Amino acid sequence: MLREQYGLTGELVLLDGEVDLNYRLSSSDRTYLLKVSRPDMDEDHLDFQSRLLAFLESTSGVLQTPRIIYNKQGQPVGSFQDGNGQKRNVRLLTWVPGKIWSTVSPHSPLLLAELGVHAGKLTTALSDFEHPQAHREFEWDIAQSNWVETGFDHFDAPKRKILQYFLEHFRAAEPVFQTLRKQVVHNDVNDNNIVLERVDGRPTVSGIIDFGDAIHTQLINDLAITIAYAISGKPDVWQAAHAVVRGYHSACPLQRAELMILYPLVAMRLVISVCKSKLNSEREPDNHYLQVSDASAWQSLQQWYEQDEAFLRLTFYDACGMSLVEKTQTLTDLQPLIKPVLTDFIATQKVDKVEILDLGLESNHITPEVLAGDHGALKQKIQRLLIDAPKTLFISQHHEIRPLHYRDSNMRETGSGPEYRNILQGIDVWLNPGVVVNAPFDCRIHSIRNASTENLVLLEFEWSSHAVAFLLLNGLDFDLLELGAEIKKGARLGLAATPATDEILGSTLHIQLLIDPLSELIDIPSHITPSERGMWSQLSVDPMLLFREENSPSASIGSADNIFESRRRHLGRSLSLSYDHPLHMVRGMGAYLIDATGRPFLDTVNNVAHVGHEHPRIVKAGQRQMALLNTNTRYLHDNITAFAEALLATLPPELSVIYFVNSGSEANELALRMAYTWSGEKDMLAVERGYHGNTNACIDISSYKFDSKGGQGCPEHTHIVPLPDAFRGLYRGAGSGPKYATHLEQQIELTQGMGRGVAGFICESIVSCGGQIELPEGYLKAAFESVRAAGGLCISDEVQVGCGRVGSHFWGFQLHDTVPDIVTIGKPIGNGHPLAAVVCTAAVAEAFANGMEYFNTFGGNPVSCAMGHEVLKVIQDEDLQRHALSVGTHLKKELVELQKEFPIIGDVRGQGLFLGFELTGPRSEPLSEQATYLTNRMRDFGILMSTDGKDNNVLKIKPPLVFSRANAVEFLERLRSVFSETMMENV
Ligand code: PMP
Repeated sequence: MLREQYGLTGELVLLDGEVDLNYRLSSSDRTYLLKVSRPDMDEDHLDFQSRLLAFLESTSGVLQTPRIIYNKQGQPVGSFQDGNGQKRNVRLLTWVPGKIWSTVSPHSPLLLAELGVHAGKLTTALSDFEHPQAHREFEWDIAQSNWVETGFDHFDAPKRKILQYFLEHFRAAEPVFQTLRKQVVHNDVNDNNIVLERVDGRPTVSGIIDFGDAIHTQLINDLAITIAYAISGKPDVWQAAHAVVRGYHSACPLQRAELMILYPLVAMRLVISVCKSKLNSEREPDNHYLQVSDASAWQSLQQWYEQDEAFLRLTFYDACGMSLVEKTQTLTDLQPLIKPVLTDFIATQKVDKVEILDLGLESNHITPEVLAGDHGALKQKIQRLLIDAPKTLFISQHHEIRPLHYRDSNMRETGSGPEYRNILQGIDVWLNPGVVVNAPFDCRIHSIRNASTENLVLLEFEWSSHAVAFLLLNGLDFDLLELGAEIKKGARLGLAATPATDEILGSTLHIQLLIDPLSELIDIPSHITPSERGMWSQLSVDPMLLFREENSPSASIGSADNIFESRRRHLGRSLSLSYDHPLHMVRGMGAYLIDATGRPFLDTVNNVAHVGHEHPRIVKAGQRQMALLNTNTRYLHDNITAFAEALLATLPPELSVIYFVNSGSEANELALRMAYTWSGEKDMLAVERGYHGNTNACIDISSYKFDSKGGQGCPEHTHIVPLPDAFRGLYRGAGSGPKYATHLEQQIELTQGMGRGVAGFICESIVSCGGQIELPEGYLKAAFESVRAAGGLCISDEVQVGCGRVGSHFWGFQLHDTVPDIVTIGKPIGNGHPLAAVVCTAAVAEAFANGMEYFNTFGGNPVSCAMGHEVLKVIQDEDLQRHALSVGTHLKKELVELQKEFPIIGDVRGQGLFLGFELTGPRSEPLSEQATYLTNRMRDFGILMSTDGKDNNVLKIKPPLVFSRANAVEFLERLRSVFSETMMENV
C-alpha cells in the first residue's frame, strides 16, 4: 500500500495509541508517522484532522507540528483492505523528531514556562479554525464531562470523595464557565504529545503532536489540560502550574474569569482521565496503554486536592501579572487608612518606646551556638531584655528571615530543591506575661483555629468600604471568644500567655495584617518560603504601621544585584565568582552556608572551614584574645609557643621548627626561600597542574597558573614533572608510581646537564587542582630520594589536605611512608582566620637563619595563635580525624556503588573527606559539560560542589569535617537524582 499509494518503502514499527494503529515508518531518507484508522472510523473526522493540520501548516511557521504527506492522488487520506476484508483509512504524516516530555528530566521552571508558551501559541494559531467535526460529542472535552459521575461508583470511598468534590466544584463554576470564550483547541497537550529537542545543550520544547482530540470548547480548557499533565510528579505543583500559566499567558493572553475557575478545570481533566481508565480497564483489561497514566493522574489529583484553591487562584493572577487585589487600588493607597485606626493600640500597651529585636540572618543575637541548635542562651537573653526594659515594647520586623527555622517540619521540597518556611510574615511582639491585649479596632472574629493548642484567632475588620483585612493573633490566652462575634475597639481579647508559647522566643504576640481579596484564604501562614514571598507581599501589609509613623522598610539585606554592580565597578576583574548567578552568602553554620534569602547550602567545597563554619569555640577564642591583646611576635606570649608545641606534636619529631605566616602562599613563599638558601640553587621541581599560591614565586612553580589562561608558560628555573594520574595520565593503573618518579630523576639530570643544581621539589600529597589525584604507591618516597640525592629539599604542600582531613593520618604525606624537609600548612589551621605555617627540620631552620631577620607583622600574633590552637583542640575533642575517616570511607564506598549504576562516573578517588570523582565517556573522554551541569543542579538542590582537573571534569568533595553521615546520605541521594536526569546523558 505504501509503495503503491505513496511510492515509499521502509521499516514499520508499531507505536502505542488509543484510537488509531500508529506506526513509525523509516524509509531510506526520512521518518514518517503512519496512522491506520479503525474500520469504523468516521471519515468526516479524518477530514477534520487533515484540514486542521493543513491549517496549522499554513498559519504557524514557528510551531513544529506533523505535516500531511499527500498520496499519489494528492489526497490526505488513503485506504486499503485489511486481512478481514475491512476498509482501513490511512494517513501519512511527517515525523516530529525529538524526545517526548515524559522521558526528559528535569522539568525546570524555564522548561515548564516554555511548554506554556508553546501550548499558548498553538491555541492562538487555532483561533480562526472551524470545522463541523469540532462540535462533536466527546468524552475527553471538559465542557462535556458530566458523564464522569457514572464512573464514580467504581472507586473506593476516599477516591470517590475527591472525585465528587471536584465535580461539585466544577458544577458550581458552570455559570462562569459558560460565559467563557470558545474555539478549537488541541485538547490533549499531555506528556506524550510534547516533543523536545536539545538546543545549546539544554532540552527545549520544539513541537506538539497528536491532534486527534481537537475540539471546539472553552479556550481555557487547553491550558487546564496542559497543567494537569505538567504537574505530574512535581513536588511543588503550584510552582509548576505558575510557570506554565506564565508562559501560556505570554503567548495567549488570558482573562481574569478564565483564571478564576482554572483550578476545578485542571482537576476535571484528571477526573476524566481516571474515570476513563477505570472504565476502559474493565472493558479491555489487556490494553496496557489505556492505563498508562492512571497512577500518575491519581497522584496529581490527590496533590491538586491538597492545594489551597484561593492561594492557587492568586498564583494564577500573579503569573499573568494581574493585581491580586482586585477590589482596591494598591496596598500603598490603603496604608494611610490603617494608621488612624491603629495608632492607639500601642497606648494600650503602656510603654514608652518601641524597639526592634532583630532575630534575622545578620543578627548578633543569632550566635553560632544558637545556629547550632542551642537556643537556651537566646531565650535567656530575650527574657533579660524584657525584664530590664519593662517600658519598652520589643517587636520584630515584617518579612524577617529567621535562621532559627531549619527544621524538617518547615521544609518544603520544590522542583529546584528544598525550601524552608523561614520568613516571618507579619511581626512578633514580645509581651511580658499577663499583659492585657485589647482589640485595636472594631472587628469580627473570623476564625478560631485549634484555640487550645495554637492560640490563634483571626480578626476580620472592614478596612474601607471596599476592602477587608485580617489581624491574626497568636500567642494569647484568649478570653472566651465566639466565632462571628462582633468586637468593639478597646474590648479585652486576652492575656499574653504564660508559659511561653514558643520554646525559643518566649511570650510573643504574633500579628499579621493582610488583605484577602477573595475572602477565601484558608491557610494564612506565619512563616513563608522565599518563593512565596513575592505573592504574599501583595497581600500582606507591614504591621509595623501599628507602631511607626512612617512606613519603615521591612527587614532586608543588601541586594545581590547592588553588590554585583559594585564589585564590577570597584573590584578587579580577575577575581572570579562561582556560578552564573552568584550566591550571596551571609552566614555560616557547621557544614552549611546560608544565603541572603535564608537558604542553607550544604558545603562540600570549603575545606577552609575545617571544623565547621563559625564554630562557636573558634569564634570565641578569637573574640576573647582580640579583647586582650593583639600584637607581633617581638614580645613573649604564651599563645605562640603553646600553639607551636601543639602543632609540632601532630608531626614527626624530625619536623621541629615552625614559622607562622598568614596564608598558604606566604608559607610556600617562605618554604621556597628556605630551599634556595639551603641549596644555593634556584631550580625547582613541581608537578604538572599543581597550584601553590598567588605570589610571584608561587605562580612560577604553579603550572595550574602559568600553563592556563593568561599564563606566560613555564619559567626558566621551574621543571614540571607529569601529573601522576594513574587513571588517565601518562602511566595508568597499579605500579605507575615508580614510573612517574623516574621523571624527577630525568629532570634533575637535565638541570645538572645545564650546569645547575636543584633547590627542591614541591608536591601536594593529594593533588587538588589536578583533580584530587592520589599519588600512586611508591611515588613520593622515590621522588624525595632523588631530590635529596641531588641536594634539594622536599616540600609537602599540606595547605589543602592537612590537619586530619585524610582520616587515616593527620597529614597527607603520612600516607606515603616518608617525611618531607618542609611542610606548609594553611587553609584549615585557622578555620577561616588568615593563618598558615611553615614547619621544617632543625637543620633547614639553621641554614635559613643566616643573619637576615625574618619579620612578619601579623604572622604568629596572639589572636591567630589562639584560634589555630583552638582548631587543634576541637579536632581532638570532637574526634574529627576519625570522623573524616568514617564518613569519608562510607561516602567513597557509596560513590563506588553509584558508579556501578552510572558508568559516567569514571573514577572515584581520595582519602577521608578529601574525595573526588571524574566524569568520563565510554572511551575515557572527559565530560566537562556534564560536570558543570552537575554542579549547577546540585546548587539547585542546595549543595555546593566544585569542579577541577585539567579537563574540568572532576567533582571535588572537601567539606568542613563536621559533614555528617546524614549529610552524606542527603548528598548521595541528590547526586543519584541528578545522575538520573536525561541532561546527564552523554550526547
Ligand atoms: N597551596 C595549595 C595546595 C593551595 O590549594 C592553595 C590555595 N588554594 C595555596 C597553596 C595558597 O594558599 P592561600 O590562598 O592561603 O595563599
